[in-house]
Formats: sequence, C-alpha cells, structure tokens
Amino acid sequence: MRLLLTNDDGILAQGLECLCTAAEALGEVTIVAPDREQSATSHSLTLHHPVRPIRRGERRWQVDGTPTDCVMLAIEALMPERPDFVFSGINHGQNMGEDVLYSGTVAAAMEGLSLGVPSIAISFAGGDLRADVSRLKEQIKVLQPLLKHLTSLPDFPRDTLFNVNLPPLAADEVKGVRLTRLGRRVYSESVAPMKDPWGRQIYWIGGGEITWSGEPDSDFRAIEEGYVSVTPLHLDLTYFDVLEGAATWWRDL
Ligand code: MN
Repeated sequence: MRLLLTNDDGILAQGLECLCTAAEALGEVTIVAPDREQSATSHSLTLHHPVRPIRRGERRWQVDGTPTDCVMLAIEALMPERPDFVFSGINHGQNMGEDVLYSGTVAAAMEGLSLGVPSIAISFAGGDLRADVSRLKEQIKVLQPLLKHLTSLPDFPRDTLFNVNLPPLAADEVKGVRLTRLGRRVYSESVAPMKDPWGRQIYWIGGGEITWSGEPDSDFRAIEEGYVSVTPLHLDLTYFDVLEGAATWWRDL
C-alpha cells in the first residue's frame, strides 16, 4: 500500500512524525509537507508564483506551499505512482465542527479526494501541545489499528474523507471510537483589538474563548467523553434537503 502523508503544521511537526510512525506499519510512506506552518490556510492553492520541492530524505519532500499544493504536487509530479491513500495530520489541535472549513489539514485530505484518492484527516484534540506531546505520542497506539481498519474497509465510501479527532488521553484511557457528525463551535471575542508599536490600531484574529454545542452524536461530545471521533465528510457540499424542498420556489419564476 502506498501512503502519501502531509499536514498543515509543517514538515518538522511532531504530529507528522507520529503519523509517520503509525503509517509505516501499514505501507510505503511518502511525505510531502509544507516547509512551515500553514494552519488555517484551508484549501488555498499557490497560483501566482512557483513552488519548489526540496528533498529531505528518501520519499520525503518539503514544499514552500500550502497543504493543498503539497498533495497536488505529490500526486501529479513527485510520486512515481499514485498513492492508495492520503493521510493528513496529525494536526496540533482539534478539527471539529466549523474548524473543518478553515483547516489546512482537512483541506489536504479534501484535495486527495478531488484527485480521486481516498483520504483521512487526523487531528489531536489536545490544547497546549508542549504539555501534551507525550499524550500525542500515546495516540499512535490508538491511531494505528484505526487506520488499518479504515484502509481495509471493503467499500471505502466514494468521494468521502474520514475526519478523525484523537482525545488528549493516555492510550489506555481512550474509551473507544465513535462515528460522529460535526458539532457547532462558538467563538467569542475572536478579534482582539490592540495597538502596534507606533500606536496604530490593529486586530489579532484567533484568540478568545471557544465553546462547543452539538448533539450527543457530535464530534466534540465524543472527544469530551473520551472517545476517538470519526466524522465522514463528503466532497459534494450540495444540501440535498433544501434542493428537494426548494423545487417549489421556482414554480412561478
Ligand atoms: Mn495545524
């Protein structure tokens, strides 16, 4: 099995190293990852200047681009044969609810799907990674059998990626794996006004309090209760319920 690994925290990130350890037992690993952190770059593609891959070992490349650039470059140019799966992560921080819309980790998996390769995004729902890096390493034991299971499904669903979140627990404290839906995240005071060194007004986006809401079967509830959450995400964002209901809206047009 040929596995393409990437992330949005950069090629030096601990999470990528942990994913590599988990993946190496399953197949031949190729890493193509950004040369620096690209968190929250979503599905952006570098169109206005070239990207340069630099070889960092056998089947290991760093790219001065986004996670999406990395997946596209890997599949279209760097790998002699197409991968069987794209694994993206392990992201430093959760990707639950609306996070998936900003996440470079999830977008890289989405890019894999767009190019016809089944993909899995993996995130570690620990807060401060400096405190939790041992827990992140612990999660290799949980992740490896899960990846093995997902990659050997007789019918990996079409145009679908699995968005996995790992709880910040020791491996033997994890209660199990739950299939989940996306929860809802509520940010408050996420734009912080402040002054630059010259006294001019600036804003720092991304701080503030995060709270979550969602059904008992949502991703954040699973994490909160000590489970691994696995949420299937579809490439087609069409909302079919509305499409059916809205048919009557056009009657008089
Ligand atoms: Mn990240």
